[in-house]
Amino acid sequence: MSDNHLENSQIMKDYQWFHRHPELGYEEMETTAYIKEALHEAGIETLPLPSARITGVIAVIRGKGESAGSDSEPVVALRTDIDGLPIEEMTNVSYKSLYPGRMHACGHDFHMALVLQAARLLQQTKEDWSGTVKVIFQPAEELPGGAKEMVETGLLEDVDAYVGLHTTPGRPSGAIGIRSGGLMAAVDRFEVTVSGRGCHGAAPHEGIDVIPVICQIVTALQTIVSRQVDPFAPAVLSVTAVSAGNTWNVIPSEGSFCGTVRSFSPQVRAQIKERFYRLTEQLTDASGAECRIDWYEGPPAVINDEGLCKIAAKTATESGYQVYEPEQTMVGEDFSFYQEKQKGIFLRVGTGYDKPLHHAEFLADPAALEPTAEYLALLVKKILAEI
Ligand SMILES: [Zn+2]
Ligand SMILES: [Zn+2]
Repeated sequence: MSDNHLENSQIMKDYQWFHRHPELGYEEMETTAYIKEALHEAGIETLPLPSARITGVIAVIRGKGESAGSDSEPVVALRTDIDGLPIEEMTNVSYKSLYPGRMHACGHDFHMALVLQAARLLQQTKEDWSGTVKVIFQPAEELPGGAKEMVETGLLEDVDAYVGLHTTPGRPSGAIGIRSGGLMAAVDRFEVTVSGRGCHGAAPHEGIDVIPVICQIVTALQTIVSRQVDPFAPAVLSVTAVSAGNTWNVIPSEGSFCGTVRSFSPQVRAQIKERFYRLTEQLTDASGAECRIDWYEGPPAVINDEGLCKIAAKTATESGYQVYEPEQTMVGEDFSFYQEKQKGIFLRVGTGYDKPLHHAEFLADPAALEPTAEYLALLVKKILAEI
């Protein structure tokens, strides 16, 4: 197709509008309004969210013979995230972000354009397929994980399978990454405060110095993954910030550190947490100090369903896509909150260029827009027909 055709297409207009208007997690007001209007223009019904929810949209498209509340036919959900990042855009595209310090640097603008267009295609062809499609425009993927709240709306109880996707720089437009089993890691975050007793730097025996205690804990934590976790089970524990004291001759009374744990297996996830608590509490105790551990459980691992992967790979090959198997990554993705409820598949979509996700010059190749939207609509129909 010609560049002119793409330039004037609805999907390109959507993509450029989304790219110009990046909004941070739970602030996606304009984005939500745009999506709702586009869906209504296409004749697609949106479901009312509980009143507390002000951003995000769940839409529903019913195939032939379907009426509201029918539970005999399968339900497939197609999900996009809608939030941007607090990054100053450094690209030179004509549709650059209009908002200083905010950018769609993770390709969620691209995801929205794809899923919106796939919804239109499903709506236009609804006499050709049976079942129900729920289309999820989810807020706050980056922080703190809006998927969980979309699940908690109760509007997705009847979903039988979830489909999600992510742009993938470094892979050409036309490549679809499909990996059965573990794709992305579970994410946990910790914050630890150690309290001792401050004193003069010249008289440490009069206090309880938290600095050597924190140093011992941080060193000991390094042995969890290296010495205690099965070497064949992927796991990471990173301490990413340490803080204590503010001058050269005073021993501080308090210090803190924080970081993240990444894992795939639920057993390893629990094992690391248990060892973390034991080491931190016992080393603190041995020194006479006290500690408070705050542990924040993030999304579980993204685990792709084997049957859905087979359908996705077959559909991609038949549509002329080049299928590849993406590497596992220790980066997380809250799509796993849906997969916790029902099986799902998270796809990688090649979007060209070389700047990584979250980079101020990140862009996705618009050439991937139309074919990927068509692929998503086709894939949803195939899943409806086969599950
Ligand atoms: Zn991101
Ligand atoms: Zn992302």
